[in-house]
Amino acid sequence: MTNYAIPPAPPVTLPIDGTDAVFPVLRVFCVGRNYADHAVEMGHDPDREPPFFFMKPATAVVPNGGRLPFPVATDDLHHEIELVVALSSGGEAISVERALEHVFGYAVGLDMTRRDIQAKAKELGRPWDMGKGFDRSAPIGALCTADAVGHPSTGAICLRVNGSVRQEGDLGQQIWKVPETIAYLSTLVELRPGDLIMTGTPSGVGRVVPGDVLEGHVDAVGDLRVEYAR
Ligand code: MN
Repeated sequence: MTNYAIPPAPPVTLPIDGTDAVFPVLRVFCVGRNYADHAVEMGHDPDREPPFFFMKPATAVVPNGGRLPFPVATDDLHHEIELVVALSSGGEAISVERALEHVFGYAVGLDMTRRDIQAKAKELGRPWDMGKGFDRSAPIGALCTADAVGHPSTGAICLRVNGSVRQEGDLGQQIWKVPETIAYLSTLVELRPGDLIMTGTPSGVGRVVPGDVLEGHVDAVGDLRVEYAR
């Protein structure tokens, strides 16, 4: 048995619909600008810029959302509602045709963003990590398995804040579809079982303040509720 100098952290896990088993999270990859209307609202041309990736630590995942403290060090916290893909197997140079064989299931997630810190990083050409990968920046709902729901490629993705619709789109609007995203990402890193991919957000991103209640939904996948403390 390994003699760990300090106790190793147990894996962060996500609940799985319809079972007591839980899904151990290894890494969280996120796709930037994967819906044309969101790329436009952020000041970019969706036809000229291929999607790109950034990461959050697994420790940023908050299983099932719930009531969260308001994040530190920001005056401009933004919501980004996203479809999350969970991988049961990995590999390098995975083909588009076989990519979905690696998918365990899907969940509703929020790519919470300290937009002020991210904007400053963009301006200075610095990394996005502190704008994107902060504590509790990835609330994610229960996984539904591909065995149960298949591989949704169309369907509504939306977010309400305090009951009002803020983001509304359709999975069919994704510039890079899930199989293409998996295939491309696997040319950059060797994907592994337990990896999550947050697949980008539709338009309507906006500011969240203390006390706000966020309710996300993706057709066939489920719901996610987050309430920020006052
Ligand atoms: Mn995002």
